[in-house]
Amino acid sequence: MSLDVRGGKRRAPGSASSLVSADVRAHNLGIVARYLAENGPSSRSQIAEGSGLTRGAVTVLASSLIEAAVVREAQPKYKAGKGRPIVPLELASDDVALLVLQLDADKATALLSSVAGDVLLRIAEPHGRPMGRPELILDVLAATLDRALEASREMGRRVAELTIVAFAPVGGDPVQVIADTDLGWGHVDVIGGLRARVQGFPEAVRLVGDVHVAAVAEQGFNPGIKDLCYVKSNSGIGGALIVDGKLVRGGFGLAGALGHLPVRPGGIVCECGQIGCLVTVAGPDAVLIAAGMGEELHRDGLTSALAEFSRRVLVGEPAATAVWDEARVWIARSLQLVAVTLDPQLIVLGGYWSLLSESIGQSFAEQRKGFFATGAGSAVRVVPGRLGDDAALLGALWQARDRYFSGPLEIKT
Ligand SMILES: [Zn+2]
Repeated sequence: MSLDVRGGKRRAPGSASSLVSADVRAHNLGIVARYLAENGPSSRSQIAEGSGLTRGAVTVLASSLIEAAVVREAQPKYKAGKGRPIVPLELASDDVALLVLQLDADKATALLSSVAGDVLLRIAEPHGRPMGRPELILDVLAATLDRALEASREMGRRVAELTIVAFAPVGGDPVQVIADTDLGWGHVDVIGGLRARVQGFPEAVRLVGDVHVAAVAEQGFNPGIKDLCYVKSNSGIGGALIVDGKLVRGGFGLAGALGHLPVRPGGIVCECGQIGCLVTVAGPDAVLIAAGMGEELHRDGLTSALAEFSRRVLVGEPAATAVWDEARVWIARSLQLVAVTLDPQLIVLGGYWSLLSESIGQSFAEQRKGFFATGAGSAVRVVPGRLGDDAALLGALWQARDRYFSGPLEIKT
């Protein structure tokens, strides 16, 4: 799949009219900076025309962005016989980078990007999945972060923001991983653990749950959709809920943890303590082992083994197909529960489920058939995510970029 790392086809969620004034300004600063990131050097008039902002608004916003060194004036362009030259604006920030550090059940990944969206470095280090031993995994995460920071220094770029993406729910103050059943973790202070290990640890740091940034990124590809359920499987099964345009976090930060919907009465005990969770009957480890792919899982890691499993299902390999036909019934059942609870417009499937979304959609439609025969109940669509396994990584990067572009607001207030 070819990905637009710059996120050019997305639309920023929310509309200016629904936002309060400070947010409007941040939103509009973002529009100007994003326009330059996506279109290259442009005149104020071109930005106004392309963005829908007035020429006057663009001039004011551009001044703030120039003052904050996010944008600068490029070489003037003289046109024969036209009097005053046109002075295009361009993104400054050649000395700045954004860094995303991601931890999944297989590996640590670092993605270093310019604010314009050029990937400067992408590295990944397997951690061997030592269950219940966060210190060992933090060592690998710290080494990966070290390499990325060193690379950024060598390029003469300062890391404006580090976003750490955990494939697990996060919450609390200071923010921590709450529980990670794929790694056998309870509460783990990832930021504190890395700060203690890494010299030159960036000042601006965030820790986010993968499904939250992934869901917002996928929503950006579906303008007009305000009620969306994102469900993914790669490391375990996770989900995130967007209701009336807002991400639902829940009272304990655990909203949307759909892998732990207890769907099978009398099933096996899950890592979370409940019985018969979706992840125990349709989670990555469960399906790979049932399909006789334990060796691939052990040797190649989850991501690679799941890609191979998907391939086998798509070509109709009997063992994988039999396992999948059973698993997708449980997945569809879980989606039914979510659909009845939240009435979403759209269910987006991420991770390897995006490759198998058609068969999941079929099971869902069959099982939900007849729900409120008026037709309203069957309108929810099940679609594959656009970003696959990179949804969280790119979502985190785009959100960091949007924050950076809106940065002058913080300077002003
Ligand atoms: Zn569970």
